[in-house]
Formats: sequence, C-alpha cells, structure tokens
Amino acid sequence: LKLTEYVTVSDLANMMNIPVNEVIATCMSIDMMVSINMRLDAETIKLVAEEFGFETEFVSSDVVAAIQESTEEDSEEDLLDRAPIVTVMGHVDHGKTSLLDNIRKTNVIAGEAGGITQHIGSYSVKLPSGRHITFLDTPGHEAFTAMRARGAKATDIAIIIIASDDKVMPQTVEAINHATAAGVPMVFAFNKIDVAGADPNKIREQLASMNYLVEDWGGKYQCQEISAKKGIGVNELLEKVLLEADILELKANPKRRASGLIIESSLDKGRGYVSNILVQNGTLRVGDVILAGKYYGRVKAMTNERNQALKEAGPSIPATILGFNGPPSAGDTFNVLETEHEARDIANKRTQLEREQGLRTQKMLTLDDIGRRIAIGNFQELNLIIKGDVDGSVEALSDSLIRLSAEEIVVRVIHKGVGQISESDVVLAEASQAIIIGFQVRPSAGARKSAEQAGVEIRTYSIIYDAIEDVRSAMEGMLSPEI
Ligand code: GDP
Repeated sequence: LKLTEYVTVSDLANMMNIPVNEVIATCMSIDMMVSINMRLDAETIKLVAEEFGFETEFVSSDVVAAIQESTEEDSEEDLLDRAPIVTVMGHVDHGKTSLLDNIRKTNVIAGEAGGITQHIGSYSVKLPSGRHITFLDTPGHEAFTAMRARGAKATDIAIIIIASDDKVMPQTVEAINHATAAGVPMVFAFNKIDVAGADPNKIREQLASMNYLVEDWGGKYQCQEISAKKGIGVNELLEKVLLEADILELKANPKRRASGLIIESSLDKGRGYVSNILVQNGTLRVGDVILAGKYYGRVKAMTNERNQALKEAGPSIPATILGFNGPPSAGDTFNVLETEHEARDIANKRTQLEREQGLRTQKMLTLDDIGRRIAIGNFQELNLIIKGDVDGSVEALSDSLIRLSAEEIVVRVIHKGVGQISESDVVLAEASQAIIIGFQVRPSAGARKSAEQAGVEIRTYSIIYDAIEDVRSAMEGMLSPEI
C-alpha cells in the first residue's frame, strides 16, 4: 500500500479490499476507538495493514519536500563556507539585550556603509578578522524552541549568557536544556564582570555541578568573561563562537534555488506584506517566485538591516522582502519555485490540508501510545520533562525514571526543574516529542491551554511511586487507560 498519512478508516478498508467493520474491530483490538471517517496516523495504519498482511509505504504529502529531495545533490565544489547563525539566551536581566546591542553597535567594521537601522529580526556583522556572524535577534528560549516546534532549525550556535554577579537561574537552566535538546552547541558568556563582587568562578562551579564543565576547567564548553555594557571580552567571545563554527563546518550551496526561514511577517499599509527572512541555502533574488506555508508571491523588493536595496541574498544572509500575498508565520520555511503557477497550486493544497487537519486532533506522543509504538519497534527514546515542588523530589523522580531505561528504549529527561508547569515547558515538549510529568505541581492556565492545542500530554502525580509505575507500565505496553 502506498499512502500518505491522511487516510481514513474507510479509505484504508477500500485499499485493502476488506470490510470496514473488520478494520474497526482491529483498531479496537489495539485500544483505538475509531469511526469510519476518522483519519488514522501512520503507525496505526501500519499496524492495521500488517494485521491483514499488507506492507505499507508512506509517500510524503508535502509536495515541496518532494521537490527539494528531487533536486540533484550539491557537488563538492559548489558547497561553500557560510556564516554561523547565532542566538543569545539566558535569564532575564543577565544582559542578552546589552550584548546584542553592543555587538550591533561596535562590531560593524569601520567603512562598512551604514549602521544597522532596521530591526529585521536578525543581522549580520563582520568581525575584524573579516569573517561574518549572523545573529538571530529574537532573544529568549521560548522563541527559539517555538521555531523548532514548527520543524525549523534556525540556530547553529547558542550563546548562553549568565550574569557573574548573580548565579545560574531557572531560565538559565531552561536555556541550556532547550539548546541541548535541539543539539545546538553552546558557548557560555559570563557577563557583568565589571560589577564589584562579580564572581565568574562561582558560575563555572555551578555549571560543573550540572555536568557542564567549561574548557578552562578541563571540560568541553568554551566560555568567556565579558562586560556587555563596557564591551570587555566581546570580541574574544565572538572569536570563540567562530571556533565553534569551524568545528561544525557549516556549508551551503549559493548556486541552488533559495530556501530559508521566515523570522516574522507584518502588513505594511503602503507596501503590502513585509517578511523578515533568513536565507539558509541557495541565493534569493529579486523576481524569484517564493512560497512559505500557504502564501506565495514574487520577490518585489529586498533590503538588508542597513536599509540598503539588495538584488540577491546568499546563505546566512538576513533580508526584508516584499511580495508575499499574505503573512507567513515565524518559523515557516520558504522555498523558491520555478513558476508562480506551481507555487499557487502548492499553497492551495496546503490551505486545504490545513482545513482538514484542523478537524482532527493533533497527534503527539502520549503515555498510552508508548507500548504500542515499542511493539512496532519504531520507538527508541522516551523524552520526559519533569517539574516538581521541591528539588529533592524532582531529582529522585528523575533518577528513578532514567533507571527505567531498557535495552530497546532509553528514557531521557530533557528538562527538569522546580515550579509550575509553564508554557515554555509545553513548547519544549512539543518540539522534542516529550511527555511532561508534574509532581505536586500543576500546569499554569496558559500551559494547560497550549498543551491542549498542541496535543502535549501532561501527567500530574502526588506520589512518586505512581509516576514511576505509570511510566514502567507504559514501557511494558500495559498501562491501563486513564479514566
Ligand atoms: P536582558 O533582560 O537579558 O536583555 O538584560 P539587559 O541587557 O536588559 O540588562 C539588564 C540590566 O543589566 C541593564 O540595566 C543593563 O544595563 C545591565 N547590564 C547588562 N550588562 C551589563 C554589564 O556587563 N555590566 C553592568 N554593570 N551592567 C550590565
């Protein structure tokens, strides 16, 4: 059977030429209550089809993905170095804005025409060494992870900023965990060293106790003492970021048709829809046909962060463009297509799919799914986020759950912390296909709402043993359904 994910129970029955009642019965035998017109997810389809002796093969329903895949491989000589894309994250008041401001103001090399006059969500700076870094100017790990939840990988390297007259704070821990969950390398900036009483070694120590050992203490994480306000150490920090970039060997092919990321969009009364974008691969040119989400158009005009008109923008170059027929969302990817006709077709298909998908509930991981997925053999990692009322119980619960890891499946705690379950936790869970476990804490109203929308499972417990037993039973495929 060749199919996309969007197949209803009756479609599936037709394809297999089997009475729909039998398909429904099979679904019920694996604890899935379905109706004839319900669309099934990929795993259920696979499982049911196998029951009837069919092999399944999924073809991507996304036409653009297919187009991208079909384009020929880049030849080695077309792949050129590109600038790293960097985000600054950290606890509030630890100096994110000050650092970004300092870099924007002082690290624009003399002679480069025009200062950065427009806020377009990201900007590129040229260092004295002649190399470039592109900063994604949307501070905060929520924005970072929200993009990832939408499937976009926007950042190559994260600078984690920590005020050294303060300490590692809950949002610092969150930022570190969000970057780690995304697999993004980190460079630590110990800020405010100009303040009397600043003690960067205390920060090194706190990081070490979290198993993040910095380089000057023999670990693998680079760090730099800085004063964002006075501009001390900032160049050194940026050079370390470039070292990290060298390890990543970031390449792109400027000869390709462009693809990249929407940073933000708005409607300008005089000019129409304005989108801030970041080219990730290829080269975008004025006149190109572009598509992002359900919107498309032709690039009418393009400017950079210095308000200069651009004819083209290559890899890692941010730009503002005019020409979309609507506002694509932050985190959407954009693609350049051959013809406007093609772009319109795909945009229409996506609009239609979105309408249909709106009717079915989102499919995220739940504890109930786990046993079923382990049985199919396509589940190797269980990601958990643990929140609790006190540090001791969070640690105890986290240790016990990690110890449930078995040969076939590894339990990973991607984030843990004391306090209410927050919206940020939900976004991280969504991006990482994780389940949230709360011990003696509840979700905030906002978190509960966004969890419902995203289909993220939150389980709360008041007895540690119950939480451990539930996860254990789920892993053994024997969780009794929650009533
Ligand atoms: P954000 O919330 O992380 O964006 O932090 P801000 O950049 O807004 O900084 C918070 C406060 O710390 C502001 O009053 C800054 O002026 C101050 N600040 C930031 N960096 C430094 C620094 O290196 N030295 C000193 N003395 N103050 C700083």
